[in-house]
Amino acid sequence: MSSVKAYAAPAAKAPLGPTTIERREPGPADVEIDIKFCGICHSDVHQVKDEWGGTAFPIVPGHEIAGVVKRIGADVKKFAVGDHVGIGCFVDSIRSQGGAPNDTYIEQYLPGCVFTYNSVEHDGKTATMGGYSESIVVNEEYVLRVPESIPLDRAAPLMCAGITLYSPLKHWGAGPGKKVAIVGLGGLGHMGVKIGHALGAEVTVLSQSLAKKDDGLRMGATAYHAMSDPSTFEKLKGTFDLIINTVSAKLDWGALLALLKPDATMVILGIPEENVSLGAAALVQGRRSLAGSMIGSIAETQEMLDFCGEHDITADVEVIPIQKVNEAYERLLKSDVKYRFAIDMASLKSE
Ligand code: NAP
Ligand code: ZN
Repeated sequence: MSSVKAYAAPAAKAPLGPTTIERREPGPADVEIDIKFCGICHSDVHQVKDEWGGTAFPIVPGHEIAGVVKRIGADVKKFAVGDHVGIGCFVDSIRSQGGAPNDTYIEQYLPGCVFTYNSVEHDGKTATMGGYSESIVVNEEYVLRVPESIPLDRAAPLMCAGITLYSPLKHWGAGPGKKVAIVGLGGLGHMGVKIGHALGAEVTVLSQSLAKKDDGLRMGATAYHAMSDPSTFEKLKGTFDLIINTVSAKLDWGALLALLKPDATMVILGIPEENVSLGAAALVQGRRSLAGSMIGSIAETQEMLDFCGEHDITADVEVIPIQKVNEAYERLLKSDVKYRFAIDMASLKSE
């Protein structure tokens, strides 16, 4: 075991502050990663505030990890010291429990998925601690290769925000000839615009206001509308083949479903604290579907990283020292970030 510096929240709604945590010595199949940057996902905020219930404290959040391989176990084949790597939302899955090969592609949905933080390892007792820390030790099967062309600060948010958008865009067939709406231009949403555009779809952003319109168009959207303007919902009725809803708060899902063509789907990614109610007519009229999607498998996450490398897609980041993390959470709640905070983990050394 080795002690490493980290930032943790000791209780629900308490601010994050410096602490130390234990990391295991790398086993034969393990990779030890020197964490360079960690993105701040809105899911970190939901869990630190215990908005979904069941958070185990103290919590060290962070599942958008980008760093450099520091040490490898004797049997590690895929990685060498010095490689640029990432860790996303989970660090183990049914695969290490003898899962069937087909499970690989939906491992994030199956029992046995061990999340990077606020979860328990397969030993039944070790609490997982996330990326707001100096280093992490992970089995090589759950380590991702970051293309050399992507700087690590701009790569970190791909580990959650990138895959969370790539997976449903691919699954529901976003591509040439398809009209896709991305609802909410935040950390997830801005990756959706970039990836949807690179897949060849015609992308529209639906945001609270027009304040970020220029950015949305620069990222690849061809249209941008404010949901605060009621005429948006009149104008766009029956327009989209696919709507991807990334909003972290309660919204009128019925009004959004009306923007779909017949037989089309709205995919929910955002997980608001409060339940959302929906009239059946919103689905019945137009034989529309409402679906959800959660991150992606390791194989699909690697596919997304390679796709981003080929298409020159990176996250727009504001790099901050860890000492500003509580302020960053407050700003995130006001949608005041362009478009993802990435914590520079070098700042942890001075704690
Ligand atoms: P974020 O950066 O805060 O972006 C959320 C966006 O939603 C904001 O930028 C804002 O966009 C919009 N929004 C916020 N409050 C709103 C309100 N009251 N009404 C209307 N729009 C509002 O958050 P994120 O990191 O992208 O995460 C978004 C949600 O997805 C969170 O609930 C998070 O937990 C969840 N999530 C899910 C997965 C998954 O696998 N399904 C993975 C990661 C995160 P505009 O300013 O453009 O309106
Ligand atoms: Zn996330």
